[in-house]
Amino acid sequence: MRRFLLLYATQKGQAKAIAEEISEKAFAHGFSADLHCISESDKYDLKTETAPLVVVVSTTGTGDPPDTARKFVKAIQDKALPGDFLAHLRYGLLGLGDSEYTYFCNGGKIIDKRLQELGARHFYDTGHADDCVGLELVVEPWVDGLWAALTKHFTSSRGKAERIGALRVALDASRRMDPLKPELLHIESQVELLRLGDLRRRDPEERGQNAVDGGRSSGGVGSESSLTRSEPPLSQAALSTPAAPPEYLHVRLQECPGQEESQASVTSVDPIFQVPISKAVQLTTNDAIKTTLLVELDISKTDFSYQPGDAFNVICPNSDSEVQNLLQRLQLTDRREHCVHLKIKEDTKKKGAALPPHVPDGRSLQFILTWCLEIRAVPKKALLRALVDHTSDGREKRRLQELCSREGAADYNRFVRDERASLLDLLLAFPSCQPPLRLLLEHLPKLQPRPYSCASSNLSHPGKLRFIFNIVEFLSHTTKEVLRKGVCTGWLAAVVASALRPDVRVSCAEGGKAPAPEISISPRTTNFFHLPSDSSAPVIMVGPGTGIAPFIGFLQHREKLQEQHPDGHFGAMWLFFGCRHKDRDYLFREELRRFHQCGVLTHLKVSFSRDAPVGEEDAPVKYVQDNIRLHSEHVARLLLHERGCIYVCGDAKNMAKDVNDTLVEIISKQAGVEKLEALKMLATLKEEKRYLQDIWS
Ligand code: NAP
Repeated sequence: MRRFLLLYATQKGQAKAIAEEISEKAFAHGFSADLHCISESDKYDLKTETAPLVVVVSTTGTGDPPDTARKFVKAIQDKALPGDFLAHLRYGLLGLGDSEYTYFCNGGKIIDKRLQELGARHFYDTGHADDCVGLELVVEPWVDGLWAALTKHFTSSRGKAERIGALRVALDASRRMDPLKPELLHIESQVELLRLGDLRRRDPEERGQNAVDGGRSSGGVGSESSLTRSEPPLSQAALSTPAAPPEYLHVRLQECPGQEESQASVTSVDPIFQVPISKAVQLTTNDAIKTTLLVELDISKTDFSYQPGDAFNVICPNSDSEVQNLLQRLQLTDRREHCVHLKIKEDTKKKGAALPPHVPDGRSLQFILTWCLEIRAVPKKALLRALVDHTSDGREKRRLQELCSREGAADYNRFVRDERASLLDLLLAFPSCQPPLRLLLEHLPKLQPRPYSCASSNLSHPGKLRFIFNIVEFLSHTTKEVLRKGVCTGWLAAVVASALRPDVRVSCAEGGKAPAPEISISPRTTNFFHLPSDSSAPVIMVGPGTGIAPFIGFLQHREKLQEQHPDGHFGAMWLFFGCRHKDRDYLFREELRRFHQCGVLTHLKVSFSRDAPVGEEDAPVKYVQDNIRLHSEHVARLLLHERGCIYVCGDAKNMAKDVNDTLVEIISKQAGVEKLEALKMLATLKEEKRYLQDIWS
C-alpha cells in the first residue's frame, strides 16, 4: 500500500475532521495515510521523510497558525536551517480560513511559504478553503483531486529521479548538520531503493492538477427563499450527491436503575472544579440592546488558580426544552431514562472506526443528549446525506439530497450554515425524516465547554473569580417566532436567576437563603494574554463590549501592585473601550472612572456607537478605532519608541480586523513608511508578544 504522511494542524477540530476523512478515503484509493497531529513531532520527521506529505492547516485569530502548530512553525522557522533542508520533500497543503478575517488562510500560507523556502516542492496545488462561503466548496474538490495527484507522484519515474537527487541533497545537508545521526542511514537506504526501483514507466509531467482556491460558489440554486424548497429544482442527473457515510455504531437501549447524573465530568480530561456562585450582577440597564451579566465564583475551596487575562471553561448542558423536543421528535421520550450501550458494527466499512470518546457507556439517553452531544451544532453535509436514507417523502428526500450535493452548496450555506440551523430545526422542517438514534451518535460532535475571560484579579479578589457574558438570544431557524438563547449563556442566566433577581446586587450565598447554585469550570491550558513582565512598559488595551473583561483584571492587578510598591515605576495604561449607549451598556463605568481618578488608568478613551457622536474636539468617534486614530501620535510613539504593548480583546470578525487596519494606517503615517513596511512592523510586534489578541467569533 502506498503510504503518505498526513498531518493536521487544528484549532477547533475542523482540520482534524478533514484529515480523518482523507485518511478514511485513502484506503479505497489504494493509499495508506500515516495520520498525526502536527504537534506530535515524535511521530514523524520531515527531514528523513521519503513519502509525500499532505498537510491540513487551519487558521486562528486574525491569521495565526493554530496553537497545535506553534512548535512546528517555530521549528521550521529556525534560521539556521539550510535552504535545501527539505529539498527531498513533496507535499500538498490544504489551508482553512475565513475571508472575513484580515489574513485569509494565513496559518496554511505561513507553513506553505516556509516549506518552499526550505526546498520542499508541491506535488499537488495548494487549496485555500473559505469558511465564509463554505469550506466544502474547496475541500471536496481538493480531496477528490488528491488521489490522482498522489497516483501521479508515485508513478512518475521522473518524480522518482528528482527525488533521488533531492534526497541526496538532503543527505548532504544532514551530514553537514549532524554527521552522526542514525537517520542518515534511513535516507541512504531510501536513495538506494529509489535508484533500484522501476524507472521504466514514464508519465508525461503534468502541471496544474485541480487548482482550487477559495471563492464564492457560482453554482447552486440561487433564488429560493426556503430551506425546504428549491425552484427550479435541480435535475436528478445534475446532482452529485455524495455517497452515504458508512454506518459503524450499534446502539442498544436498556432499562437501567435511576442514576444521579448532573454533569459530564466523565468525558473530560481536564480537572473540573464545582464552585458556587457567590455574586451575580446585571451590568446593563433593562433597555440595553444586549444584557450583560457579571458572575462571581467562589474558588477559595479549590486548587483553581488564574492570572489576570486568563480564560477558563464553563461546562454547560444543552437546554432541557430542546433535549425534550429532540427526544419527542425522535419518538424516544419514553426511553429517555434508558441506558445507552454502544458497540462497533462488525461489518462496518468505516476504516479504523472507534467508539465516539465523548459518549460514555451506560449513561442515560437524556444525560447523553444533555451533557455530551452538541445538539445545536450546524449539521454537516455528511449528516444531511445520512438523513436522506431515513426520509420517506420523495420531495423532502430530494431537497435534502440537493442540500448536501456540490451543486446545492450555495443553498446549504444560505439555509443551513448561515442560519445556524440545528438538527432539530432540520427534523422539524423535514417531517418525514425519522433517523435512528445511531445516526445522531455517529454524527453529532462533543458538547464543548465555553471559554470566558477572567474579569478580576486574585490580588484584589482573593478566592474569587469573576467573569462577564452577554445573554445571546436569537429567533429559532424554522418558526422565526421562538426565542432561543445561547447554549451556555442561556443556561447561566437561568442558573443566576434561580437564586436571585438579576437586578438585585446581593450575594446569593448570604444567610437565610437557599445554598448558592454551583457550576463546573475547568482551566484552559492555552492562556497567553498576560500583562508584560516589565511593569514599566506602557500598556494599550482595546476592548469594546465584553472584550473589556480581561482588562478589568489587568487594572485591578495593577492597582494592587501600585499599592504594594508605592515607589515602583509603572508604565502608562491606556484603555480604549466602546459600547452602544453611555447610559445603558457602559460596562464597569464606575470602576473605570475610579481607576482613572486614582491614576492607575492613565488614559480612558470611550466611544459610543449609537449615541449622538461626540468625542474629543468633537471629532466623529463611533468605534474604538476612531479613538485610536484620534490618538495616533501617542499610540505610535508608545509602540514604536517606548516598547509598549497593545492588547486587543473582543469580536474577531469586525472589530479586531478594523483595529488591525487602523494600526497599520497609523504606523505607516507616523513612522513615514509604506503600508507593507507598517505590516512588517506590526508582525514584529506580534512576534515579540507586544501585540496580543484575545479575539472571539
Ligand atoms: P460587541 O457586539 O462587539 O459591541 C461592542 C461595541 O463594539 C458596540 O458599540 C458595537 O457597535 C461596536 N462595534 C461593532 N462593530 C465594530 C467594529 N467593526 N469595530 C469596532 N467596534 C465595533 O460587544 P459584545 O457583544 O460584548 O461582543 C464582544 C465580543 O467579545 C464577543 O465576540 C464575545 O464573545 C467576545 N468576548 C467575550 C469575552 C467574555 O469573557 N465574555 C471575553 C472576550 C471576548 P454597534 O453594534 O453599534 O455597531
